[in-house]
Amino acid sequence: MALLEMKNIVKDFAGCRALDDVSLSVEKGETVAIIGPSGSGKSTLLRCINALTRISRGSIALNGEVFVDSENGQVQNRSGQPEAVYPSEKELKRICCETGMVFQHFNLFPHMNCLKNITYAPVKVKGVNPADAEARGLELLKLVGLPDKRNEFPGRLSGGQKQRVAIARALAMEPEIMLFDEPTSALDPEITGEVLNVMKTLSARNTTMVVVTHEMGFAREVADRVVFMNKGKIVEEGTPEEIFEHPKSERLQEFLSSML
Ligand code: ADP
Ligand code: MG
Repeated sequence: MALLEMKNIVKDFAGCRALDDVSLSVEKGETVAIIGPSGSGKSTLLRCINALTRISRGSIALNGEVFVDSENGQVQNRSGQPEAVYPSEKELKRICCETGMVFQHFNLFPHMNCLKNITYAPVKVKGVNPADAEARGLELLKLVGLPDKRNEFPGRLSGGQKQRVAIARALAMEPEIMLFDEPTSALDPEITGEVLNVMKTLSARNTTMVVVTHEMGFAREVADRVVFMNKGKIVEEGTPEEIFEHPKSERLQEFLSSML
């Protein structure tokens, strides 16, 4: 059974079909890289996984539980688009706790130190006892290579350090699957490596990961599977070797040469 199973996903925004019949499944322990030009629907696909974006059609199952399926009904959303019927906010929160998301722009809480950023949600949302959350938080700071930053505030960290804290914060909820949306694209090139290395470590520890990235080197080296999107569709998917050494579609060949 796949950990994540997305079937025939359509997402319509007013005047734009962002996802056009996309199906994707991710096995436990797998690292999947999603590549493709800007506007191809990569972020939308990722955001549908944790319900930050609601699908128009299709179904999504996490950990064997179908949490949304348009077969069970559709409504019209505020922008007049059809939308699948979702469970209650409370129910969604429970399901989405199984996902951890890392954004391009860190989104750390500026008024909390690093450790507090990491322990806040486990304590507040999951009811973990504060001492346990703290012990786990310190382990996670070590894992991302920032063992001495527990009392530092985000404003005093470099971009790469902020992103590593953001990764630790997402991991603290012990999600089944980690979602990364271009985690290094807001960083200076010389510090992307420190973030990619943390992700590489996670992948090697069999963390289930879906990573939207422009870092072709990372996708090639770390991903088990690479998915190429264009205009709201998955055009091609395969092993890094299949995608990078033997791209079949003209669109992928074009995209890869534009990335050189
Ligand atoms: P990518 O991440 O691959 O650059 P996106 O998923 O952000 O692509 O966007 C896919 C398409 O959906 C684009 O045409 C974009 O303009 C559109 N889109 C994304 N989010 C919204 C939104 N909230 N409202 C309207 N259109 C959107
Ligand atoms: Mg995007």
